[in-house]
Amino acid sequence: MTGPVALRGPALRLRHDPFLQGPEDALESHPDALVVMEGGRITAFADHASERAAHPPDMPVTHHPHRLIVAGFVDAHVHYPQVGMIGAYGETLLSWLRRYTFPEEARFADPAVARRAADLFLAEMLRAGTTTAAVYCTVHAHSVEALFAAAQPLGLRLIAGKVLMDRNAPDELLDGPDLGIPESEALIARWHGRGRLAYAVTPRFAPSCTPEQLAAAGRLWRGHPGTYLQTHLAETREECDWVRDLFGRDTLDAYAEAGLVGPRAVFGHAIHLDERDWGALHAGGCGVAHCPSSNLFLGSGAFPLFTARRADRPVRVGIGSDVGAGTSLSALRTLGDGYKVAVSSGARLTAAHGLWLATRGGAEALHLADRIGDLAVGMEADLVVLDPAATPLLARRVERSEDDADRLFAMMTLGDERCVRETWVAGRRVHGGA
Ligand SMILES: [Zn+2]
Repeated sequence: MTGPVALRGPALRLRHDPFLQGPEDALESHPDALVVMEGGRITAFADHASERAAHPPDMPVTHHPHRLIVAGFVDAHVHYPQVGMIGAYGETLLSWLRRYTFPEEARFADPAVARRAADLFLAEMLRAGTTTAAVYCTVHAHSVEALFAAAQPLGLRLIAGKVLMDRNAPDELLDGPDLGIPESEALIARWHGRGRLAYAVTPRFAPSCTPEQLAAAGRLWRGHPGTYLQTHLAETREECDWVRDLFGRDTLDAYAEAGLVGPRAVFGHAIHLDERDWGALHAGGCGVAHCPSSNLFLGSGAFPLFTARRADRPVRVGIGSDVGAGTSLSALRTLGDGYKVAVSSGARLTAAHGLWLATRGGAEALHLADRIGDLAVGMEADLVVLDPAATPLLARRVERSEDDADRLFAMMTLGDERCVRETWVAGRRVHGGA
């Protein structure tokens, strides 16, 4: 085992949940922090002046005096097979799936296509400062193999699963419970809990699954404690109407009937819900991935973030890039879009809310808040070093910034992966530096 290494520089973390206790005083700013990492964890986090002497003089310390160290970003909803068709023009969800997504995912019948996409996706994810993601693969079991095989040597905490679909998609993308469930089970046996990898049972969304397949997915998930369940929920009104036609009930009720509502269930979008749904998601300990960039791009609707996080029954919410309907893998860009969606609903997303969603909130949605999403001793050492002056425009904008909250907000509005100078995973630099 190698010895300790450290980062030094301004650091920012959250004292409390800004949705529940207010954004004022939520951000804890350390103008000159020392973050010591060893054995994949943060072993010390304190002001440099008081902490440095407690560590060996020859400990390697990378100094970032004008940057900002934060916890690594969490992307709670993303489709790696869609990196090649991101930004496809001019459709709403259902026609976009038919016209662009399904043909692209069909290409993953070739394992070489999957391997190439997995390598690109992981490199781009780390370039964007994302250190944990919940990822949809394709219907092909080898699409999961390709992603996990590429993620494992990097030491990434990654959640992924094979998409289950047995209707309303092209024939070559259908599996059915007789094929999809045993394939998922074999992938769980092979990958779940290996290093930091975890499996997610992944029925794409209600319209692409028969009630029998949804129920089989529920049994599979509940039969393997610790695994995740991920699917899409109430992304568009058209989809909600379709589910009502197919199942004779609202989407969340259809999922509940199949046993898909509970802790470690992560629902993408969750836009068109009612108060009963929010209560059920809260009571179930479910996670929701807010995907503002995708929702703006496809015109799906405005996620009611502050309703979801209402203090008397807060739902666990993180952000999702939802590439390829989302247009960037960058958490900063996604938060910038989240700000605009919130404003359009008469609310305000502060820097504290943004940092929460991209780190602790995502970790809570994935039931990983005891391991990731915070700069604190004992947490897994997944970190990002941000550069608030990464572009000439940002440099000009932050010239007169008086605090880290304003610098972070500027990056949420004007920044993207260009702001990510270094990404650290389990105490190892995996992007940037040198
Ligand atoms: Zn999605």
